[in-house]
Amino acid sequence: MRFEVLTIFPGFFDGPLEHGILRRAQKQGLIEILIHDLRSFTDDRHHIVDDRPFGGGDGMVLKPEPIFRGVESLLAGGGPDGSPDQSPAAVVLLSPQGNVFNQAEATRLAATYSRMILICGRYEGVDERVAEHLVTEEISVGDYVLTGGEVPALIVIDAVARLLPEVLGSETSAVNDSFADGAEGILDHPHYTRPAEFRGWRVPEVLIGGNHAEVARWRRRAALWKTMRRRPELLQTANLTGAERSWLERLATGAERDATKGDEPIENVSDLP
Ligand code: SAM
Repeated sequence: MRFEVLTIFPGFFDGPLEHGILRRAQKQGLIEILIHDLRSFTDDRHHIVDDRPFGGGDGMVLKPEPIFRGVESLLAGGGPDGSPDQSPAAVVLLSPQGNVFNQAEATRLAATYSRMILICGRYEGVDERVAEHLVTEEISVGDYVLTGGEVPALIVIDAVARLLPEVLGSETSAVNDSFADGAEGILDHPHYTRPAEFRGWRVPEVLIGGNHAEVARWRRRAALWKTMRRRPELLQTANLTGAERSWLERLATGAERDATKGDEPIENVSDLP
């Protein structure tokens, strides 16, 4: 996958792309990330990329011409010897008004495209003609407003890149993550490491016992329990067995609790029946 970013702050990307898995994936040629300065697609002496909003009001708006020129010139190149790259390309505008990004969207993008061009807005945003006539995807990273599209672009690159073959180093690593299909859309189970006891808090005994079937059962239940407490809406669409659904119902009504812990409420995952 090739990611190409259009930004007025290319230096913003210097650090984040030079660490960990994204760095290794670039070195191995599994992904390519190219950062382009939007100003290099201007044609005036001062490299102006923004202007005041029509109709008045605060702030500046990114002009359409450099963005159209930038995207069109990237789409026209990229193939062998500078020929047009015919592979499926997403042209993404990062915007708080876009479709809210999630794991399912990351999975779709990773499976659909072999190239993504990401346009980072700034100031009051981007001339609306970019959203109307240039982009194929408008993506929001959540219902809050950031100062620019650079952090959202990094979020999308990171989430998509780690789903690509071989990027994580192990094909199964992403399968059981929170929201992933392998976990049927629920949260991941809790993870513990040494020491087995820290400040008096013990790791659940089942994880130390070496019984793999019991560990798997506990992890599944802990993931369900956490999802029920933190993100109950995910359970509505999750692929659960009948037995799991009735266990959750018993947990919610307290029946399971009474059987194992008297009247004490279950606060921590270590108390899970
Ligand atoms: N006036 C815009 C609005 O209220 O919708 C907000 C503009 S924001 C200050 C500047 C730029 O940051 C946007 O053009 C976009 O590229 C980026 N941005 C801010 N929040 C974002 C979010 N939640 N998701 C994606 N991009 C975002």
